[in-house]
This record gives sequence, C-alpha cells and structure tokens, in this order.
Amino acid sequence: MNRSFLPAFKTKEELAAIQLAGLKWTVRHAWEGSPFYRKRLSEAGVTPDRIRSLDDLKRLPFVTAQDLQANYPWPLLSVPMTQIVRLHASTGTTGKRKVLVYTAKDIDDWADMFARCYETAGLSREDRVQICVGYGVWTAGVGFQLGCERFGALAIPAGPGNIDLQLQFLVDFRTTVLCCTASMALLLAEEIDKRGIRERIRVKKVIFGAERSSDAMRAKVKTLTGADHVFDIPGLTEVYGPGTGLDCTFHTGIHYWADYYILELLNPDTLEPVSEGEVGEMVYTTLRKEGAPLIRYRSRDLTRAIPGECLCGSPLPRHDRIVGRSDDMFIVRGVNIYPSHIDEILSREKGIGSEFQIHLDHQGDGKDYLVIRVEREDAGRPEADAALAAKIERAVRKETLVSGKVEIVDYQSLPRTERKAKRVFDHRG
Ligand code: ZN
Repeated sequence: MNRSFLPAFKTKEELAAIQLAGLKWTVRHAWEGSPFYRKRLSEAGVTPDRIRSLDDLKRLPFVTAQDLQANYPWPLLSVPMTQIVRLHASTGTTGKRKVLVYTAKDIDDWADMFARCYETAGLSREDRVQICVGYGVWTAGVGFQLGCERFGALAIPAGPGNIDLQLQFLVDFRTTVLCCTASMALLLAEEIDKRGIRERIRVKKVIFGAERSSDAMRAKVKTLTGADHVFDIPGLTEVYGPGTGLDCTFHTGIHYWADYYILELLNPDTLEPVSEGEVGEMVYTTLRKEGAPLIRYRSRDLTRAIPGECLCGSPLPRHDRIVGRSDDMFIVRGVNIYPSHIDEILSREKGIGSEFQIHLDHQGDGKDYLVIRVEREDAGRPEADAALAAKIERAVRKETLVSGKVEIVDYQSLPRTERKAKRVFDHRG
C-alpha cells in the first residue's frame, strides 16, 4: 500500500486548527531562535504568548526581500548552524542573492509537499518523470527530483537544454510526464512535430515550472505532444522552493498547501486584505519551517483567491495563476496596471503574435499616454491592422479602464531574448 500525500484534514475548522497550532509554534520558534525575529517582534510589541487566534496574524510585522538581503548570507536563521543540512539560493536578478537554509525536517517536509503535487496531478508509481529543469544551487531540479523519489515514480534527471538528448530520452524511456519551463516545452513540442515522432512518445502530462504561460502556448504543447494535461507549478525559494501547490485535473485554479503555510492576499499599498476575487500580493507565513521560517513574508507576487469548492472535492483552498509582480506594476492616469494583464488581454486576440511592448509617454501636455506595440502574426495581412488595432483598443479599455493606442508591427520586428523580455518602456521622465 503506497502512502498518500494528500492532506489529512477534511473541513475548514480542522484546517484552521492546524494553522493556529503552526502559527503559534512558528512565532515561538522564531522568537527563541532568531535575534532578527526577536527584535522585529519586540518592536511590534508582540510576544509568542500573544498569539491566541488566527486573527492575531495581523499583529505580526512583515518581512521583505530587503530583510533577506540585508542579513545575507544567513537571513532568518532560527536554529543553530549545526542543524542546517542544506542551503539554496535564488537566482537573484537584483542585488545580493537570497539564501535560504534547511534542516533535515525542512527537506523532508518539502519532499512531502512536492510528492503531493505529483499526486494531485494524478500520477501513479508507474509514471516516468523527465525533469528538464536546472539542477544547481537554486531549488528547481532538486525539488522536482526529491518529490518524484518521495512519491515513488521514476525520475529521469535530464536537466535543461540538449534537445536531441531530451527527445531520445522521451522515446527510449517512454517518459509519461515532462517537467520543464513553458518555453522548453514549446521547443520540445515543435521538435516532436517537426521530426514526426509523436507516435513514438508517451507523454501524458506536462508540468510547467517557473515561467508564466499563455493559454495559446498550453494548447499548442498539448496538441503537439499528445499530452492530456498541462499543469502550472508555483513556488519560491523562500517557501522551500517549487511545489507550494498545483492545479488538479479539473484546472480550476491552483490548490495550495494551506497546512504548510498561511497565504494572505494584501493590497501592496495599504497592506490590508483585498476583497474576494481582487488581485493582491501573496504574503506567506510558514507553519512548520525550522531553518528559515517566514512570518508575513511579502513575496511581491500577485494573484487572486478562487472562492468556493473545486469539483475534485479537495478541502485545499485555491489561488489563480500568478498574474505578475507588484514591482512590475505601472500607473497610467491613476490606474494600476500590470504587464501580465495586458499580456492576458492580448493572448485572447487572434491575428497577433505573443511579443509586445508597452510605451508610456507624456506627448508634451503632461497627460499619460499608453501605447501597446504588438506583432502581427506570421501569416497576418497588414491591410487588417487598423481593424485589429481598434478591436484590441476596445478590449484594453474595457478591462483596464484606460484608453490606449495599439500599434501592430511586423512579425519578428520586436527584439527576442532568451531571458525575461523587457515589456514596459516609460518615457515620461
Ligand atoms: Zn481540484
């Protein structure tokens, strides 16, 4: 009999009891083990015995990425170094890297969390999981590997890149589950198509990590590989790594592991909870993390909660896909807009490609002007540009409440990059 990694609780009340016990434990653990937390909590006038209900979470001070960087290389350390068995670091695009430390129990918990992802995706021990993400000091490959072995499926640690080898593995090992970034999946899917080897591969599920993907991209990957499901796996190094939740086979949002962490969705400006269905910043409080526990950690990632119960019957709550980062937000005529929202609107339109740029300008009169430059699709006709632009302008105005101008440009005229593309160009000075 194989063990299940799904949660033991059934009701909201049981979950609340688990969360309260975890919150009390975490605050006491951090107070006793970390000078940083003890100072922060003291300044906020909170001692561990003040935590009596989940509502007391509001009393706790926030932790930010700057706190992690300022206390480099061992931020949030809450146990003696001798109990630390591993470190991971973020890829860190700005400033110093964020380094997070793990005890043996933390690694064990992470393996269970990740095994739950595979179970939620409907894998069995018969599955063969090709892991085509990076292995290194960051958490990606290691997490996928750890979870796969804990779950009991066969792990194929292929690593990133090397398309020929990946395709050979897919055929020879009869891989059933592919774990990779969305762009890697697309690349592999197109190669499978080009080489006409779809009949020789057995991929049923694809799990996307780390990168946002559009619906069009997901559909294309499914068609070209023959997979039945594409899943999105969220995660961040600060909360163990990837594997903090997964959408189930109904794909109605991401179930998250609320018995391992409390997720608050807060307005990034006021730090008050957003109303249901509204986009907010994801703020994490871990419930059993020993090495580097998180208390109200501001991730800057944005999403919305999905109310109600999922058709699968899971008691685990859901959040939407990550819609962007609060750092990327820009303001036009007093309205907050995220590039990912524009991306979402554009991805629903036919006749255009996936590349776009957002330009903000004053045009001499001090008012904000928004211009969205987007590529015509490969086979598109320039004669249709004006009508298409007008249609997209209406969609943007309807959804963001801001009027902008849309310019359709030639296919492949916007720069391509292997890294994250720059989307917003602010010329307002
Ligand atoms: Zn579900």
